[in-house]
Amino acid sequence: AFDVLVVGGGPAGAAAAIYAARKGIRTGVVAERFGGQVLDTAGIENFISVPETEGPRLAAAMEQHVKAYEVDVMNLQRAEQLIPAGADGLHEVRLSSGASLKARSVVLSTGARWRELGVPGEQQYKGKGVCFCPHCDGPLFKGQRVAVIGGGNSGVEAAIDLAGIVAHVTLLEFADTLRADAVLQARLRSLPNVTVITHAQTSAVLGDGQKVNGLEYTDRRSGQTHTVALQGLFVQIGLLPNTDWLKGTLSLSRHGEIEVNPRGETSIPGVFAAGDCTTVPYKQIVIAVGEGAKAALSAFDHLIRLPVD
Ligand code: FAD
Repeated sequence: AFDVLVVGGGPAGAAAAIYAARKGIRTGVVAERFGGQVLDTAGIENFISVPETEGPRLAAAMEQHVKAYEVDVMNLQRAEQLIPAGADGLHEVRLSSGASLKARSVVLSTGARWRELGVPGEQQYKGKGVCFCPHCDGPLFKGQRVAVIGGGNSGVEAAIDLAGIVAHVTLLEFADTLRADAVLQARLRSLPNVTVITHAQTSAVLGDGQKVNGLEYTDRRSGQTHTVALQGLFVQIGLLPNTDWLKGTLSLSRHGEIEVNPRGETSIPGVFAAGDCTTVPYKQIVIAVGEGAKAALSAFDHLIRLPVD
């Protein structure tokens, strides 16, 4: 059995694996796709000490760093069930391949994915104007015109954030009102360079073949189609944690995030979690890496306190 079994091979999982392996304990990583969301990222400019890199390059460096240690990396394997430890003290992780892994502690770092619009042009222009993370990509649109899709807290926060960087922000909301907290809405409406459009169903992302140059929406009251000229759009209609397989096993927030305390402990003793799949705010690489390190150190603290057999 493993001492620490990490489920998920993104930045959080890679950091957890390295920190665990450096304690000289038996460490494994099982990942559906080693590298995680980083593999889908074009430019990364906010991983401290690396002024500029590309996702696949950072993912390759993470993998190389993990493999410099004695870590059993099981890539292209999907976990589908966690069975908490019984009398033998071993947690079990069942894989969709039918195999099963046992471990004295587990770090869950299965990440999350952005909910997409599902409209024409969205896939084609991903990373070419279609963005999901204002902290990551906002500065790329300095002085340009952008839209934010979604009038919940994340959408309104993104619009306020972007309004300080870009020339103009159009916020589109599907419903008849914004759902964000009143104080955020008041702040938004105080900004001179933001337009809010409600009843707006985004129907297409437009581009010139290379990058985004507009979007098309339907006014749900009149049925009329309108276009907005812009260089970028930020889709803020939800972040979905990859935790469906854990429902009913441990405590999840109402958004499906694994509830963790400041030590990365979950509701199951010996099971820790880190990164985008948890309740820790701000889903960023640098944060996932720090949380992964923390979860592994907490797992080690847990292991050294287990009764001697
Ligand atoms: P993830 O990176 O999501 O990794 C999750 C891992 O778990 C993957 O290996 C996945 O295959 C695996 N997994 C999931 N379910 C299972 C399962 N059931 N069984 C086994 N394995 C499973 N952040 C920045 O800081 N800067 C940026 O510039 C930036 N740009 C971004 C651009 C895009 C397009 C996207 C999508 C995200 C961007 N982010 C950026 C966010 C950043 O990528 C994430 O915050 C970070 O990757 C989270 O790391 P993680 O390890 O928690 O999860």
